Amino acid sequence: MTAPADSIMEGKLTISPIPTVDPEINEIRRKTAEIVTGHIIPNENRLRTWNDETRALRDQIKQTVKDAGLWAPHLPKEYGGMGIGFMKHAYMNEILAWSPFSSALFGVVAPNSGNQNILIKYGTEEQKKQWLEPLINGEIESCFSMTEPEAAGSDPYSIQTRAVRDGDEWVINGHKWFTSNARRAHFAIVMCRTEEEDGAGGTQEKMTQIIVPTDTPGFNIQRSVPVWGHEGGDHCEIIYDNVRVPVTNQLGRTGSGHQAAQDRLGAGRVYHCMNSVGQMWRAFDLMCRRSIEREVRGGTLEHKQFIQGFIADSYIDIMSARLMTLHTAEVIDSGQGDVRTNISAIKIQVPEALHRVVDRAIQVYGAKGVSTDTPLEGMYRGARTLRIADGPDEVHRVLIAKNVLKRYHDGMSWDFGV
Ligand SMILES: Cc1cc2nc3c(=O)[nH]c(=O)nc-3n(C[C@H](O)[C@H](O)[C@H](O)COP(=O)(O)OP(=O)(O)OC[C@H]3O[C@@H](n4cnc5c(N)ncnc54)[C@H](O)[C@@H]3O)c2cc1C
Repeated sequence: MTAPADSIMEGKLTISPIPTVDPEINEIRRKTAEIVTGHIIPNENRLRTWNDETRALRDQIKQTVKDAGLWAPHLPKEYGGMGIGFMKHAYMNEILAWSPFSSALFGVVAPNSGNQNILIKYGTEEQKKQWLEPLINGEIESCFSMTEPEAAGSDPYSIQTRAVRDGDEWVINGHKWFTSNARRAHFAIVMCRTEEEDGAGGTQEKMTQIIVPTDTPGFNIQRSVPVWGHEGGDHCEIIYDNVRVPVTNQLGRTGSGHQAAQDRLGAGRVYHCMNSVGQMWRAFDLMCRRSIEREVRGGTLEHKQFIQGFIADSYIDIMSARLMTLHTAEVIDSGQGDVRTNISAIKIQVPEALHRVVDRAIQVYGAKGVSTDTPLEGMYRGARTLRIADGPDEVHRVLIAKNVLKRYHDGMSWDFGV
């Protein structure tokens, strides 16, 4: 497929070094931007399709990424990644997200990337050899199976899928859905209830994550749940029917499943938010370019006050979302301050800001904005979905209020210095 004649896909985004950060961060940003604007954005229309030619193109871009030392920013060096640590990765994500095609081409593909991190933290040497290494090498795929139709995903203690010990095996029975990537996956990490009563660590110790190879008898995919009208998606509904796996497939100690899920999301939400900031940056760029090019009633859109309002409000949305996210990253990096309240605040603020910015950009484009000739329609669906996945907004609002009021109950006020 060739780009439409008036394609904006060749648009170059520009970045300047940030004077206040480690020079290595600026170097990573610059090199990332070079590849995203030079190799990925100009090829977006081709990268939408899968054929021999676009497979070769993907391989070629991946090699460019590897040669630049930018492969797998989420992984430590000993596992073939960049080993760059938290802040550098956060800043890199902002640039990666200029194109929806970047992550895969830089070796970060959900849910594999989350599973890789969990295996690194909780896996035994044997599990790492069997599952992590081929996953990193791209020889196998994986999925994460937690959400259930009959239990609220926003209440992680309500999980009904049970794993019961039978000799040297776990026997798993349950019903999951929205297990993304399940049809392609060679193994699932399944969140199971393994304790009926509170475990040693209280309510939080009832769940355990267990690795289930997807060819195990009883792992039965019922359907792919269509999302946003896409019938061919891979968000699967699965019945676990007496699925037997060795106890050695358990990740971490019994009862550590909830903590492992927190580790998976926790600080990772900063990466997701920086990713959203990068998408906003791209949407903003598209909106501005369109507004100086599109002629309406004797003048370009830039001269209409409604459009100027869209640009100004989007600028404010992006700057506030970006600064809040960077503040949260600094709080995490410093090891001091209220991490959880800050993370919940950005988990609400940033996807909402993304939703607004993309919505305005679509409006400026008119019909083209809802077509796949620009990345905006995909960003819009993603932004709306983000407000549910990783914990719905309301759950995070409740948590913020609780944390704030706790300080008042403790005889203090809220301290905005943290
Ligand atoms: C595209 C997509 C991909 C996904 N991929 C995966 C995956 O790979 N693996 C996986 O396990 N899951 C996945 N999920 C599921 C996702 O994690 C859950 O949808 C999410 O945790 C919310 O759970 P739920 O859908 O059961 O909503 P519920 O928990 O039923 O919540 C529904 C609504 O109730 C309200 N609500 C909830 N709690 C409160 C409260 N305390 N106060 C006030 N209101 C409240 C909120 O408005 C919320 O949106 C995916 C979801 C989507 C959309």
